[in-house]
Amino acid sequence: MSAAAGIVVVGMSAAGTAAAEGLRRGGYDGPLTLISEETRLPYERPPLSKAVLAGDGPPDSEAGGDPGHLEQRLSLDVRLGVRATALDVPARRLTLGTGEELDCTAVVVATGVRPRRLPGTEGVAGVHVLRTLDDALALRKDLVAGGPVAVVGGGVLGTEVAAAARGLGLDVTLITVDDQPMAPVLGGSLGLLIAHEHRRHGVRVRTGRTVTGLLTAGGRVAGVHLDGQELVPADVVVLAVGSVPATDWLAGSGLDLTDGVGCDAFCAAAPGVFAAGDVARWWHPRYGRTMRVEHRMNASEQGTVVARNVLASLGVIDAPPTAYAPVPYFWSDQYGWRMQAYGVTAGADRVEVLRADPGTPDRPPKMLALYGDRDLARGAVSIGLRPAGTRALRAVAAGPTDWGRALDAARTASNGNW
Ligand SMILES: Cc1cc2nc3c(=O)[nH]c(=O)nc-3n(C[C@H](O)[C@H](O)[C@H](O)COP(=O)(O)OP(=O)(O)OC[C@H]3O[C@@H](n4cnc5c(N)ncnc54)[C@H](O)[C@@H]3O)c2cc1C
Repeated sequence: MSAAAGIVVVGMSAAGTAAAEGLRRGGYDGPLTLISEETRLPYERPPLSKAVLAGDGPPDSEAGGDPGHLEQRLSLDVRLGVRATALDVPARRLTLGTGEELDCTAVVVATGVRPRRLPGTEGVAGVHVLRTLDDALALRKDLVAGGPVAVVGGGVLGTEVAAAARGLGLDVTLITVDDQPMAPVLGGSLGLLIAHEHRRHGVRVRTGRTVTGLLTAGGRVAGVHLDGQELVPADVVVLAVGSVPATDWLAGSGLDLTDGVGCDAFCAAAPGVFAAGDVARWWHPRYGRTMRVEHRMNASEQGTVVARNVLASLGVIDAPPTAYAPVPYFWSDQYGWRMQAYGVTAGADRVEVLRADPGTPDRPPKMLALYGDRDLARGAVSIGLRPAGTRALRAVAAGPTDWGRALDAARTASNGNW
């Protein structure tokens, strides 16, 4: 027997809750069901690699407030600790891990991503990934024990974890397969500035290195083997080696699951089925290609647009669907400074570095660079720029903007704003 569940949102984090909020705000007053395999109510993930590791407590939304608040305010049917296991797309019927079947008016897929692991690391004590609050609390517990830490992966997550562990006074080695930390996002020369920043704070940085295995003793990690025979001693190993879209439960659904849930410009994957957040790969009209973005702000912006498009598809609002064309944005906090990035930076053919001052004992680093192809600037990254400056950079990335105008705008934006 299946039950009528109204609009069903699978995944109750940033994208899922934004979709639920948007549906209610847009005037939908029918049944609204949220399915979450996590047993906690939603919480913010960005603090997990920052404040939570530093010991500043769990994110606010988890720490305080009435746990039933969201459910009551939005009048939701929330199923915590329940996994969606299959979706019959033509029938719009969702199967849950409990064996229950839900008939859905529309489905929003907001299941995010799962951390990648390296072979042979599963079940070894002291080896961590970082995606959930429980992951962060378990890692924090191991960090305070004080042993040497190896962070595998030099992306945003890996560098943040290395910075947080150094903040606790630990012996930290950051290992990346790339030429420099964050090089795929920032390019090599600015990756060098990030490496300098970590070394300046006492992190050992190993670049261009591959982890070939773990050294274990009594079921617990004792070190990391790198190619070239080097052994990095470690009581704690953090794997920050990327993520995989959480689409396993959609196998056999007929949806396009190549790198996330493939969607059109309106974030529709099939009639009545939409996707939002880290799991969604959609056609971005501004950039003329598909994109999947694993950033906090994208999750809520996309969830909001998806809500509107669900309502348009059901005739709840009398409006055409909205194409989703955001300017991607992320931030990263390390050693007390903040990096902010707008637009597209990865894979740039042309990088214009306007400022790259390494940090010193008296002063944090300052950095400003534009990214794009031969003709147009499509992205900007800064460290240490004030909000007025970063807002102007957003406009450059939103263009895309021809290089002459982009460089002028970036110079103006940075003038007096450091
Ligand atoms: C440690 C960390 C630090 C970060 N820091 C930053 C930052 O500084 N800046 C920034 O821009 N971004 C940051 N991010 C990224 C940002 O948090 C994500 O982009 C955002 O959480 C994505 O939200 P989402 O709702 O799409 O997916 P998620 O937050 O991944 O939520 C998906 C939810 O769906 C659930 N789920 C999965 N499969 C199923 C299923 N079959 N059935 C039911 N439920 C399911 C998952 O358990 C999860 O609760 C960080 C992420 C992490 C992990």
